[in-house]
Amino acid sequence: MMRSYHSRLKAKTFCMIAFLVFVLGPLLLSAQTTKTVFVISMPKPSNHLYHVELNYRSAKKGALDFHMPVWTPGFYSLMDYAGAVSNFEVKGADNRLLKWKKTDRTTWRVNTATQNIKISYDVKAEDPFIANNNLTEDYGYIIPGALLLYTKQALPLPVTVKVKPYQKWPLSVATGLSELPGQANVFTAANFDELYDSPLLMGRLESLPVMMVKGIPHQFIGYNMGDLDRKQLTADLEKIIASGSNIIGEIPYKHYTFLAVGTPQGGSFGGIEHLNSASLIIGNKNLLAEKNRIHFYNFLAHEYFHAYNVKRIRPIELGPFDYAKENYTNLLWISEGFTVYYENIITRAAKLMTEQQVLDNFRQCITNYENKEGHLHQSASAASRAIWEMEGNPNNRDADALNKTISVYDKGCALALMLDLKIRHETRNQRSLDDLMKSLYRAYYKEKNRGFTESEFKKEAEQVAGTPLDELFLYANTTAAPDYSKYFAYAGLNIDTISRRAYGNNLGIVAGMNSNKIIAREVIWQSPAWKAGVQPGDQILSIDGNQVTSPGFPPLKDKKNGDQITMNIMRNGAEKKLMLTLNSWQTRSFEITPLPNPDKLQTLIYNSWMRN
Ligand SMILES: [Zn+2]
Repeated sequence: MMRSYHSRLKAKTFCMIAFLVFVLGPLLLSAQTTKTVFVISMPKPSNHLYHVELNYRSAKKGALDFHMPVWTPGFYSLMDYAGAVSNFEVKGADNRLLKWKKTDRTTWRVNTATQNIKISYDVKAEDPFIANNNLTEDYGYIIPGALLLYTKQALPLPVTVKVKPYQKWPLSVATGLSELPGQANVFTAANFDELYDSPLLMGRLESLPVMMVKGIPHQFIGYNMGDLDRKQLTADLEKIIASGSNIIGEIPYKHYTFLAVGTPQGGSFGGIEHLNSASLIIGNKNLLAEKNRIHFYNFLAHEYFHAYNVKRIRPIELGPFDYAKENYTNLLWISEGFTVYYENIITRAAKLMTEQQVLDNFRQCITNYENKEGHLHQSASAASRAIWEMEGNPNNRDADALNKTISVYDKGCALALMLDLKIRHETRNQRSLDDLMKSLYRAYYKEKNRGFTESEFKKEAEQVAGTPLDELFLYANTTAAPDYSKYFAYAGLNIDTISRRAYGNNLGIVAGMNSNKIIAREVIWQSPAWKAGVQPGDQILSIDGNQVTSPGFPPLKDKKNGDQITMNIMRNGAEKKLMLTLNSWQTRSFEITPLPNPDKLQTLIYNSWMRN
């Protein structure tokens, strides 16, 4: 931490210095240092307003710009957080109102003749989305970057936050921030990056028993957690944390907290990773039922492993952050895709997933982009930058975007898999992707305390593999077709990459039911429906004049390739008639099966890779 004002004392006589240091020193120094203290209250949750008091001491007098971030770490999308602010007011030390003006959408300029000012404002919080503030009669969820203003001067400096939960709630607040000893709900952060990466959850919450892993406490605290089997979740999550932290071998934080908000939608979830916490929205019905459990555990493993990959092992562009604009990187395929890969490895290492389930998930990663047109147009590094245009979520792409883009989650997972098998093959299974992650953690997080550049990542990877990796980086940086078979063969596996004709009389629509409407959820690339312009989200009304009443369309009788059918759809409130020409199309299954007669190295790699 800097104390740059020491230098002003140098010109004084020794006597004067002694006087200043011993008598006035602490006073002067403190008066000249920027200091930020927030007090957050919520006296009436039914009005969905957080009240913020900001006690700010400036290092000097004059105009000060206070900013609201335009995004929050982990969610790569511009947000209108400043738009939720109201009742902005500034007072000087004498309690007199001070003038301020908005200089742009996210900036409040305050003219200070005094160094100590008190700003107060309200923030509307009625969005249950995980990257925004929410306040209900039962719980409060705070994204600090959507609530607390910063100045450029204060960004690298320590900051204090006092939280006063609604008086009818329990006092405790769940957060990754550390509480000041002996001061309930007074938290400190070393700087605003730490503050903005530490959401807070309070209200009528429930805690699972503390999970101690390598002597470090891990908590799972939630609101409205529903019918979860608490005992099973605690036992399994402890295994996930243990196997996740084993990848790197040490735990870089003093405590970790999962902050969960339950929603009535069963089986759905969303999360954002943070420095030593994760925000989760979880469907609170049947989450541990067979069909949801693996998906849920992989999701927990994913958010947890981000505490390493992206929070500490990170591209150089991802921290310290610029909160005033998008923070682009070409390497999100590493930060997100490798985390998808590791969620499977971690859950498998915790023995919560079978080998077949892991292989099925890897196959899914590959088919997700290979069987869509976007893989011909966008590389993994281009998709990393494009996430800001996808509003942070590649799962939200519409039909047009699916034709032009890929998801870094899918392709990044496949790249991690190929890189892992390549390292294992080249080193006779002496090293693996884990060793690359460990060396990045040591060299960049621990020693240099910064992120890595693209060329530094490649250099580390080639050092671990002991061989050039140009081919893999070509797959990452271009749309060149990966030679999957070669990489899977390193583990004694075959992957079916042969294009086969999908059988005729198939329209190529995966449909679902929504409020008695039949909706196209997915339109398969090159299928008759895709060629006719059917888009995900279209409501299917009728086929050849027959009303469609179930997502499994009525069989098309007496039709052959080349025949035409009519389909009536509803899109944006307007009915449209489309002509579909029945046709077979090419598709690849990417089915993964064992190769006959694997050699010793292939068997060794497979078993070690699968954590058998
Ligand atoms: Zn992620």
